[in-house]
Amino acid sequence: MVTQAPASKPSATTSTRSQLLDNALLLLDRAVQHKLASVPDDLMEKLRKPKERIEVTMSPQLSDGRVHTIPAYIVRHNTALGPAKGGIRMTSQVTLDDVNGLSMDMTWKCALIGVPFGGGKSGIVADPRKLSVGDREVLIRAFARSAVRHIGPQVYVPAPDMGTTEREMGYIKDTLSNDDGQATTSGCYVTGKPVILGGVPGRREATGRGVAICVREALAQMNQPIEQATMVLQGFGNVGGAAAMILHQMGARIIAVADIDGAVVNHDGLDVPALNDYARCTGTVHGFTGGKEIDSAAVLELPCDVLIPAAAAGQITADNAPRIAARLIAEGANGPTLHEADEILRERGITVLPDILCNAGGVYVSYIEYTQETQQEQFTESLVNKRLEKRMVARYQHVSQYAAEKKLTLREAAMAIAIERVVEATVAKGMLP
Ligand code: NAD
Repeated sequence: MVTQAPASKPSATTSTRSQLLDNALLLLDRAVQHKLASVPDDLMEKLRKPKERIEVTMSPQLSDGRVHTIPAYIVRHNTALGPAKGGIRMTSQVTLDDVNGLSMDMTWKCALIGVPFGGGKSGIVADPRKLSVGDREVLIRAFARSAVRHIGPQVYVPAPDMGTTEREMGYIKDTLSNDDGQATTSGCYVTGKPVILGGVPGRREATGRGVAICVREALAQMNQPIEQATMVLQGFGNVGGAAAMILHQMGARIIAVADIDGAVVNHDGLDVPALNDYARCTGTVHGFTGGKEIDSAAVLELPCDVLIPAAAAGQITADNAPRIAARLIAEGANGPTLHEADEILRERGITVLPDILCNAGGVYVSYIEYTQETQQEQFTESLVNKRLEKRMVARYQHVSQYAAEKKLTLREAAMAIAIERVVEATVAKGMLP
């Protein structure tokens, strides 16, 4: 019997407007209209459009004995700099246009952080929280099989994103190698894998560590000692959880954390390692007794030095931007700030560390994993962290100096640098008829 997966609502497909795609297009259009980056007229349309947009239908049989029909999407936005790179998002709401917008962000992120990758992304329309561990494995293996023609070291190399973790990346590698009758894949097909399967130590925390490094650098520039800074996070998953732990280790006071189920606040500072243990056991920060329960949405407006949205897109809007009470916003999530909100924050003098810089640590360490697998080397965690530290600091300083010289926001500067690099690679390659 074929049925729609209970874990997935009917997808809002291509006809539904996607905030993520609208925002991504707006960022590019504005960068070019305001002459922040020079793009030849005839290349502009190429940059706006994805190279490839694929919709696949998966039909896994889940543990209820039924065959479920579940859509998945893969978009390669641009491959001028190299194979497409970008995570697999598993949520019940993800749309093809969302994946398109996210793949565009990846193009700029890879260019900005300086790795030889283009922009890609995938989406699986299912709610992982409503699936058993076994069903999640069946689903991700179905995805690997359905997407096999679109994944490869020279084509598209996925990684974890919302709703997926290193465990799923291990299953993808295993599915692809098994289907070839091999014990392993030849080359790097997926990053963010468990270390035992060829992942690099430090990859799991890399995005959060990169966020923490950017925050530390920005606070230093604002002459604010990190030990005296208060911070609020929305999202306590791959990115938010690691960022909170590392910022806590750096001496920051994390006063509130929100996730999809609730939020907790403690103005004296949350015991982040205890919160981390609690969330690992329960799957949420909700109910943690080391602080008071507060409304999740209110967390964004709490007075603090640094606000770190590390959950979903479109969280800082024209509605709540006037009430944001942070000096610095560090975008751990992709696209958490809508364009109109960005303008309000700029007028209010709130600095925003843009996603393509702030959360690029993950893709940078994915590149280390890619080279490790390609060259059959073994990197240590201290080497990975040292290289990540060096790269994040260098790119932060480059963006910050560029912004100061040209009187731009950090987001405008980051976009300008990234677009110029993609255009340079496109022109250098020449045009195939
Ligand atoms: P995750 O699934 O591991 O965690 C997401 C967290 O956000 C969870 O704590 C969840 O409860 C919370 N959340 C979701 N919706 C929420 C809402 N409406 N309000 C409050 N909390 C909410 O995901 P992740 O991998 O940490 O990704 C988070 C964001 O970071 C996404 O935007 C993702 O695209 C971006 N990102 C992730 C990586 C990575 O390496 N995983 C890299 C770059 C960017």
